[in-house]
Amino acid sequence: EGEWPRPPKCRVLTVANQKGGVGKTTTAVNLAAALSMHGQRVLVIDLDPQGNASTALATEHRSGTPSVYQVLIEDLPLASIVKPVPGMPNLYCAPATLDLAGAEIELVPMVGRETRLRRALNNFTGMELDYIFIDCPPSLGLLTVNALAAAQEVLIPIQCEYYALEGLSQLLQNVELVRAHLNPPLVVSTILLTMYDARTKLASQVAEEVRSHFGDTVLKSVIPRSVRVSEAPSYSQSVMTYDPGSSGAMAYMDAARELAYRAVPSGS
Ligand code: ADP
Ligand code: MG
Repeated sequence: EGEWPRPPKCRVLTVANQKGGVGKTTTAVNLAAALSMHGQRVLVIDLDPQGNASTALATEHRSGTPSVYQVLIEDLPLASIVKPVPGMPNLYCAPATLDLAGAEIELVPMVGRETRLRRALNNFTGMELDYIFIDCPPSLGLLTVNALAAAQEVLIPIQCEYYALEGLSQLLQNVELVRAHLNPPLVVSTILLTMYDARTKLASQVAEEVRSHFGDTVLKSVIPRSVRVSEAPSYSQSVMTYDPGSSGAMAYMDAARELAYRAVPSGS
């Protein structure tokens, strides 16, 4: 299948949902890996103090490692913390350490506190990237606001379970606030249904409900619940390399292909 078309300019996607455990990190890591395997140059910025994306991408993130924390708080250039992902040409990671937990508070009195990440990205030159995925923490605090202010697109993973839509209006409201006040081009470009269990009626009902609300924003590809997907991070891998033939890897590959071939949305 070879290389997929490269976007005319770098697409910056913030993967956000203030609920934990809905598949944000899994989605950021695996879409990034899938795209990188088809000729795209991709950076994952880990914006969660837990550092799960850094773990999955085998990137050092012990406390004290230069990380996104220093970029946001101490003006360290982003380029100085970006690391190539071992075994994955074209894939890079900007790690997060637990230090980042303090940033949520330390940012409060800072000048331009909502746009520190955007500034770091604007000053980030020298690497020709096609995609940047920003993996958000499970909250709507200043870290997520920084991610929303730095992106053109929001990608929302939605877990196919009972409370799936709860909290979504709050997220959309925050996106709207950031769009109105900080980042006019911002658009919710992509919704991805995750952890789909084909055996349950509930999952298909949730999927149907999300599609009727959000139409074409929802990718046709749906990510199934798959043990291989959840095992991969403990081997410091994406499922794309851990078990490329698994249902989860194939679904993420399909989703990445859809993302790459869809028209790049333009904000208002
Ligand atoms: P978030 O970043 O939103 O908190 P994660 O991506 O970390 O969510 O996923 C939460 C948990 O669910 C993790 O343990 C992850 O390995 C697991 N998981 C994510 N997607 C799947 C899937 N498709 N099938 C099985 N387990 C999954
Ligand atoms: Mg996460």
